[in-house]
Amino acid sequence: MEGPSIHLASEQLQPFVGVTIGSVSGNSKIGIERLHGQTIKDIFAWGKHLVFQFESFALRVHFMLWGTFAATVDGESVTGDYRRSGPPRLVMNFPNGEITIWSASLRWIDVPDARAEYDFSADIMADGWNPRAALKKVHAFPHEEIADVLLDQAIFAGVGNIIKNEVLFRTRTSPFLKVEKLSPKSLRAIIADAQAFSHRFLELRRVFALRKNLEIYRKSLCPVCGGKVIRRNHGQRARRSFFCPRCQKVAKSVLSASPSGVRARRASAASRPLRASKARGRRAVGLRSGTRGSS
Ligand SMILES: [Zn+2]
Repeated sequence: MEGPSIHLASEQLQPFVGVTIGSVSGNSKIGIERLHGQTIKDIFAWGKHLVFQFESFALRVHFMLWGTFAATVDGESVTGDYRRSGPPRLVMNFPNGEITIWSASLRWIDVPDARAEYDFSADIMADGWNPRAALKKVHAFPHEEIADVLLDQAIFAGVGNIIKNEVLFRTRTSPFLKVEKLSPKSLRAIIADAQAFSHRFLELRRVFALRKNLEIYRKSLCPVCGGKVIRRNHGQRARRSFFCPRCQKVAKSVLSASPSGVRARRASAASRPLRASKARGRRAVGLRSGTRGSS
């Protein structure tokens, strides 16, 4: 789930603020018994994190690539159309309903005010989002492809692969372009659209109309020129880009290179320790302390 979906989740779950957990279950190994009898003080989103604040500690839920959740309040489902798979990681039962979480990473934040641990200027959905700070951080990675940088959670917390692809198409930007090849004006336009499209994503999500309003993600034909949409895994993260080579002016040299999905994944596996430590270094930019973000 991407940032706007997490933001929506925090809204949908507000009926549980002030309510005490009756019982918990699930296959999480972090010691979820601790939640029994705890009252939720606050529920908020930061990037792809959903945070439940209790009296003296908080629970951070990170949905990773495949995590989902569902909730009922007074017998009615308040959540969306997410797919679920396997046994739940965590089920919290309340007098007024229940919250179930699948395939997510759970972690404790041992502070009475987890909000203070997060830098909301890096959260694409936050009122405090700071595009100038984002531009400054982007400039620190001149040799990286813009598609990779957009997924950096220390810079664009909440941006996932759907938002990345749509924003690059909407701004007619090649996903392969290195930051140093983009003008300040282009970078500002990309950063502005990352925020604008993320808010549109939220509104479309609310009315279950996201998929049919996407222009390039998982599409086969370009809605502007009618040309074939190309999909390719690339960059350090080896995440998939969907693009129109004509509208996004993708260099011929990039297109003539062999499709790099398998190769990129192999390379990424080989260089993982190095990349992980580099990513950790970067994540420190996004968060003030303790809880580190990830894509
Ligand atoms: Zn096109």
